[in-house]
Amino acid sequence: MTTTINYAGHDVPVLGSYDVAIVGGGSSGAACAIRCAQLGLSVIIIDRFTMLGGTATNATVCPMMPTYVAHRQVFAQVEEGLKASGEVTRDGTTTMVWFAPERLGRVYEDLVTCSGGTILYDATLVDVLDDRAQDGPRTLQSLIVMTAQGLVAIDAQTMVDASGDAVLARAAGVSTESGDETGANQVCSLRFIMGGIDVDAYRDYCLSLGDDFSPLKTGYFWESAMVAGRDFVLESIFREGVADGLLEEGDLRYYQTFSVPGKPGALAFNCPHIPSLVTNTSAMGRSEAIIEAHATIDRLTRFLQTKMPGFEHSYLIGIAPMLGVRESWRINGVYRLTEEDYVNQARFEDGLVRGDWFIDVHSQSKGLFHKKGYQHGDYYEIPYRSLINPQVSNLLTVGRCISTTFLMQASVRITPTVIDMGDAAGCACALSKSEHIPVLELSGAKVRSYADEVSPLS
Ligand SMILES: Cc1cc2nc3c(=O)[nH]c(=O)nc-3n(C[C@H](O)[C@H](O)[C@H](O)COP(=O)(O)OP(=O)(O)OC[C@H]3O[C@@H](n4cnc5c(N)ncnc54)[C@H](O)[C@@H]3O)c2cc1C
Repeated sequence: MTTTINYAGHDVPVLGSYDVAIVGGGSSGAACAIRCAQLGLSVIIIDRFTMLGGTATNATVCPMMPTYVAHRQVFAQVEEGLKASGEVTRDGTTTMVWFAPERLGRVYEDLVTCSGGTILYDATLVDVLDDRAQDGPRTLQSLIVMTAQGLVAIDAQTMVDASGDAVLARAAGVSTESGDETGANQVCSLRFIMGGIDVDAYRDYCLSLGDDFSPLKTGYFWESAMVAGRDFVLESIFREGVADGLLEEGDLRYYQTFSVPGKPGALAFNCPHIPSLVTNTSAMGRSEAIIEAHATIDRLTRFLQTKMPGFEHSYLIGIAPMLGVRESWRINGVYRLTEEDYVNQARFEDGLVRGDWFIDVHSQSKGLFHKKGYQHGDYYEIPYRSLINPQVSNLLTVGRCISTTFLMQASVRITPTVIDMGDAAGCACALSKSEHIPVLELSGAKVRSYADEVSPLS
């Protein structure tokens, strides 16, 4: 007989009871599910889309940005999985990890399911029920999730918010903030992929102009960019596009494109920027921005086909089904990681993850804002305390919505770093279970030494 709980006057079936329930199947959530399952926990990962990987897959955000830090073990497992499926992940010049979005999604899926984890696709978190404690931190008990069969409940000992938008934390009443000091978020982008490109001809054209943006001068992989007013050599051809009525001035704000492994002739575009979406925390605002981006992609593809050498026979393969959100809500956790921690290369007793990506802000008002990058080998640590919050005893947060300042989030948000967060959080879930202590009360130093034991940095 199915157990039910009462939610808003309805009998809602309880789909199952787990050690860990993760909301959000992006890179941080997937890594957390993989680690939990590999440590023998019963774990369910819930996502509103039909593929794991979130921004990296459904928003087609590839490749992984270069890092020079030691990673935890799931990161290597993911790259091994990509290679085992025939993907070439390294370009021989940079430390970027290249992948095709759907390949990464399949690798995450295999690692979760083959380790014994459960995936619930096509399911959207709508609410969370707690113990209604009046004093002290609350304990979350049941997620309320909209699925094809209607509302269901999912019980778990530990909950993980890997939703990017801190959806679970906000539903649980955790304090959050969003945007910079004016409330403006980083610029959103809607990415797309084109095929039928003669990439060699495009590269030859860029190099013939003296374009030194990409370190990749030969071989399969290629990267290209243009930001108006920043001395990019491609700006002149984009200006011709404006003069010919193919582009609007705002389309020149940010253009970037990358190769996709296993797809000769295809390039993935890290644009267009959608600067009109100043604050991305409004539902209607996001929807209107997507409509605006669709029109911009129409213009960009027509411009490239008409004017850019190498694009004569190109075509649009697809537009990401998910908006590329660089930054939105961030929890106010027990510790807020700051840009001073970046500058000081902070170390913590409970440091779980190493980060070295620069402060990479796509700012609404200031354009691109970058803080000086590190020397290879330098890093800061992300402490366990940035993953927990004082209001809820059994909730961890991972990924781009952990507790940081606006500027610091712009460093921690890259895919390799969020994978390591998920891996480390999975270790915390296992320790919480074995020690019968909610994650909020765990010793961060103990989480670190346990993570170093079961998923050592290498
Ligand atoms: C335009 C853009 C370009 C970028 N470029 C790069 C790059 O080149 N290289 C790099 O390394 N990083 C890049 N990044 C950063 C990086 O890709 C992301 O920060 C990172 O992938 C975020 O991972 P995450 O797990 O925190 O969140 P996400 O991957 O966003 O995952 C969140 C998941 O939660 C799910 N979800 C949300 N709400 C609900 C709900 N209510 N119910 C169920 N599921 C829900 C979503 O469907 C999604 O799958 C870029 C980001 C953007 C937006």
